[in-house]
Amino acid sequence: MEKDSPRIQVNLHGKVACVTGAGRGIGRAIALTLGRAGAAVACVDVNGQAAESVAEEIRALGKAQAVGFACDVTNSEQVTQTVEAIVEKLGGLHILVNNAGITRDGLLLRMKDDQWDSVINVNLRGTFLFTRSAARYLIRAGGARIINIASISGLMGNPGQANYSASKAGVIGFTRTVAKELASRQVTVNAVAPGFIATEMAQALGEQVLEEIKKRTPLGRLGDPQDVADVVLFLASEAASFITGTVIRVDGGLAE
Ligand code: NDP
Repeated sequence: MEKDSPRIQVNLHGKVACVTGAGRGIGRAIALTLGRAGAAVACVDVNGQAAESVAEEIRALGKAQAVGFACDVTNSEQVTQTVEAIVEKLGGLHILVNNAGITRDGLLLRMKDDQWDSVINVNLRGTFLFTRSAARYLIRAGGARIINIASISGLMGNPGQANYSASKAGVIGFTRTVAKELASRQVTVNAVAPGFIATEMAQALGEQVLEEIKKRTPLGRLGDPQDVADVVLFLASEAASFITGTVIRVDGGLAE
């Protein structure tokens, strides 16, 4: 298998996908995977250069159009403008992947207001803002998809992550409600809850903690960004058209 390639065959030609936080890590893998499947991809990131460089990687594959957009998902005005620019440049919107996320870990007793606010803002408010702006275009698309990247922290909690686990539990509740609101419009809304995935976010935990996590994970390894991207690809596909309001764990068995 070619490195960073999807392991399932899905044809997304004619679809337009938007991935937030696409500049690196899991978002980059998702953007490349959707692009390899033939979707035109809007790569959105607060770091516009990183977004554009992933878009360039997708264009170089020669299968799909891709454009990079600089956008802070917490900024309502920027989000509205970005969604409109995506629709104008790429001709619509069929698949929205809310992936942008941050951690600012710390134990509850020492957690600063700013640690709480910034994590809730990016992870939860950002998901809300992008979904609200994109919804009307997704409804028009017919059979559209919203896929939110949550975390097993939002399902089982994790010491040092009161802010992060609250934001991701919020994303899961948001997913379930929006799934019910948009079901009659044939828009499916699902969440993916990764365990520990080898990206810069996980590396911040340090080698020792990561070794412990591997030992606690029944499948005995960290996840790869492609492990998450392949599940997103499945949820984006026709094969997942009767799945909505659900959370799929991609965690090597850690959360059970
Ligand atoms: P990374 O930190 O590697 O990448 C996150 C990306 O999001 C970066 O490109 C970052 O830009 C961008 N970003 C951050 N803030 C904003 C913002 N306000 N607006 C737009 N873009 C922003 O994270 P991962 O790839 O590891 O994580 C991706 C998602 O997966 C997150 O939602 C995370 O919570 C979730 N997840 C990750 C796990 C893991 O173990 N890695 C486990 C479970 C869930 P910049 O580089 O400029 O900051």
